[in-house]
Order: sequence, then C-alpha cells, then structure tokens
Amino acid sequence: MSTNNVSTNGTSDSSNLDAAATSQTWLVEEVVAGLPAVPKTDTQSPVPFFHMLERLKTTKREGWRRFGIDRGESISDHMYRMSLITMFAPESLATKLNIPHCTKMALVHDMAEALVGDITPVDGVAKHEKNRRESTTMDYFTKKLLGRVNGGLTGQQIMDIWQEYEDSNTLESKFVHDVDKIELILQMVEYERVHKGKLDLGEFSWVATKIVLPEVQAWADEVLKEREEFWAGKDHLVYTENVKPDEKKLEQTDEYYGKDK
Ligand code: ZN
Repeated sequence: MSTNNVSTNGTSDSSNLDAAATSQTWLVEEVVAGLPAVPKTDTQSPVPFFHMLERLKTTKREGWRRFGIDRGESISDHMYRMSLITMFAPESLATKLNIPHCTKMALVHDMAEALVGDITPVDGVAKHEKNRRESTTMDYFTKKLLGRVNGGLTGQQIMDIWQEYEDSNTLESKFVHDVDKIELILQMVEYERVHKGKLDLGEFSWVATKIVLPEVQAWADEVLKEREEFWAGKDHLVYTENVKPDEKKLEQTDEYYGKDK
C-alpha cells in the first residue's frame, strides 16, 4: 500500500487507516473508533452519514501514488466524472438503460472506500477479503448510520444499488463497470499530459481491454488514439489483447477487473 502516511487534509487519521488496512482482522468498528469524530449511530438524522461522505473527498485513488502522483484525484472526483459520463450513453444504449439508475450507481459504487480505502490489485489483499471489508462497511453505513433515517429506505436503496454493481448481472451494472474503466483511461492520459511525457502510465492501458460494451469501447479507442498522438512515436507502454502484462500482473488485474470480456 501507500508508503506516504502524511495526510494532505490536515487530519491525522490516515496512519490509523493504513494500519487497519494491513491488519489481518480488519474491522469497520476499529476504523470508525480511530476517526477524528466517532459518528453517532442509530439516529434519525442523516448528518453523521453526511460527515462520513467527506472521507470520499479526502481519500485519494491509490493507483497513481505508485507513480509519484500524491496529490491526485479523490474517490469522489472519480465518481463525479463517472456520474456525468453515464448521462452520455449513446442512443443505442440509452434506449435499453435506466440512465438515472446508472448515475446513482456511479455515485454509490466506491462508497465503501470511505473507510476501507482504495485497495488496488498490487496491494496484496485477496479479492474475497476486499469484498468482506467493503460489504461490512456498506452494512455499517446503511444499517447503523442510516437504518433509522427515513425509515431506513434511503439506506436500503443505496445498499441495493451497491450490491447490483458488485453482482454485475444487469445491463446497467455492466455499463457502469465500463464507465469505471473509461474514467481511469481518461485520467491516465490527463496525468501523462500534465507530466509532459516524463511519466508513462501505460500500465493502466490494459484496463481498456476489459471494456465490454462497444459504445464504451469506442470512447476508449478515441482516448487511446489521443494518447498515441500525445506520445507521437516516442517510446511508451501500450497493452492490448496481443501485448499483455506479465503473468503475475495479469493474474492480479484479472482478479479485480474480471477475466471475461
Ligand atoms: Zn470506481
């Protein structure tokens, strides 16, 4: 995981989080106990949950840190752009999708990372353990914090949408999974541009091969074409179906992003 425990938001809880994340028995209650203010549970007010959402603004997406980008995007930055992207589903998809439902799913899908943190394929946390941490966190949010808010209905709705994304059976969830990937591809190219060709983030280009829907693939192709124009023939890494990452990396990313197209 991250070697940089210095919090950029003035709080000192990130080291607690890192310690909890590497512990074998990660418990949501232990992480919550280490927060600057322990949220009130079983209340009819949604305010403790509103405070919890701040953590999505201050928790960084981890994948970029390995490349020295410490002040990169937050979890909510990522979910915000995804939410907007869902509204641009082309006609061929939009006619088959419940778009507002997709927008909500984009807003909810990484919510558990507020307490779990952003666990990436290289962190050495098994997929089933990552799932356990995330589902117990979602239970905590929707039952402990929101169980009595609005009769528990909004919490239940959030839980159902999160579970639908995890199960990835509906067309809506498949679309949002693809949007998750195109958002990463966009950010990859944007960080490369900012670093004026001194940073090759091509490792992430493998994610584009995991996109399922042709409409989203077309967006990815466009962005990857922009990337080729940016590098203008200079040496850089590009993964495709024919040029794959090494076995270990392949195993890790396939476990997280799925083997099947
Ligand atoms: Zn995401």
